[in-house]
Amino acid sequence: MQRITILGATGSIGVSTLDVLARHPERYSVYALSAHSRVAELAAQCEQFRPARAVVGTAAAAAELAALLKGKGVRTEVEYGEAALCAVASAAEVDTVMAAIVGAAGLAPTLAAARAGKKVLLANKEALVMSGQLFIDAAQQAGAVLLPIDSEHNAIFQCLPANYGRTPQGSGVAKILLTASGGPFLTRAVETLDAVTPEQACKHPNWAMGRKISVDSATMMNKGLEVIEAHWLFGAPTDLIDVVIHPQSVIHSMVSYVDGSVLAQLGNPDMRTPIAHALAYPERIASGVAQLDLTQIATLQFERPDYQRFPCLALAFDALRAGGTAPALLNAANEVAVQAFLDLRIGFRQIDRVIAHVVEALPHGAADSIEAVMAQDALARAAAERHIDGLTR
Ligand code: NAD
Ligand code: MG
Repeated sequence: MQRITILGATGSIGVSTLDVLARHPERYSVYALSAHSRVAELAAQCEQFRPARAVVGTAAAAAELAALLKGKGVRTEVEYGEAALCAVASAAEVDTVMAAIVGAAGLAPTLAAARAGKKVLLANKEALVMSGQLFIDAAQQAGAVLLPIDSEHNAIFQCLPANYGRTPQGSGVAKILLTASGGPFLTRAVETLDAVTPEQACKHPNWAMGRKISVDSATMMNKGLEVIEAHWLFGAPTDLIDVVIHPQSVIHSMVSYVDGSVLAQLGNPDMRTPIAHALAYPERIASGVAQLDLTQIATLQFERPDYQRFPCLALAFDALRAGGTAPALLNAANEVAVQAFLDLRIGFRQIDRVIAHVVEALPHGAADSIEAVMAQDALARAAAERHIDGLTR
């Protein structure tokens, strides 16, 4: 029996994870669930999965959850705040942690799970983008097993040779090919992009996801963050990673070998496949996802990304090449800009301009401690807020 903590249980990945767990009650039990503010949803999850502990964002949310659970007769211990998130991610009773909080808020608990040597199922790409080598080293020192949930990285993981080391050296890998759908604005006239609404940006053609990652997919910052994620997960130099637009999202990514072979992982675009893969690895379990019908899909298309249309992708490559805390600055500025777009404070095309402004204005330093990374994160957030204030005044 594997005992699991889900950080971000009420989100899109959290709900998909619980869906897979519910199909295999003989293999998995839930130790802890967390949510930020959706208390009623979390209460319903606690009633169904009976975790020992549940964590929310504030004391008020905790009181509300405790009252709801009491009414249902559910004896889950309720806690709140970051220290509690770190505690349920690192507790001795836990084998596996699904890291599915969105954004920098997930860094501390995800790192706590890695430092405690857990099996870490990594959906929270922002945590790895920010902390890079620090995170990889912490996981290695503690003997944590890192399994990627991001569909591209999960696909690459499946396509790499079984004896792959920490870097591509000696593996015969020539290229890592990250596929990208191109999002909802792949063909929309560039000069009309300033007018798009949050609802249009969040309407992804192939995937149903949280709002932040949906906007990231529309700007292709998501792919930029994934390039950085691939760099750290697979020890791959920047020039070994290519992005290929593939609008159908059927090929989830590929690995190209020196002998000319290209291995790809295919499937219907449903996150329950990578979640089930990582949960059961190296075994295979049913996920509830329908078998892929290639004749139904009929056509697979590919094209090169257009950096004029998607400047965020270029900004992410630049940050990765710059190194140090540059990816943390990029990530923080992006989080603030995306939230400002969702709050109707700035237009869609101002997202990339805010990020470019912040990474140009702030010098990046060495990413030699989590404290240094968090300090840069805070500086970038403040700089992004100031810039947005200036734009909207
Ligand atoms: P979501 O917005 O649907 O859910 C986010 C979860 O994080 C919720 O449970 C929320 O309660 C929690 N949360 C939000 N802010 C928090 C805070 N400040 N402190 C603590 N908890 C907080 O997001 P999602 O789409 O499920 O994505 C989660 C992560 O997985 C992101 O990092 C995303 O990039 C990654 N991811 C998602 C998908 C997908 O298909 N949804 C695919 C690949 C990677
Ligand atoms: Mg992805």
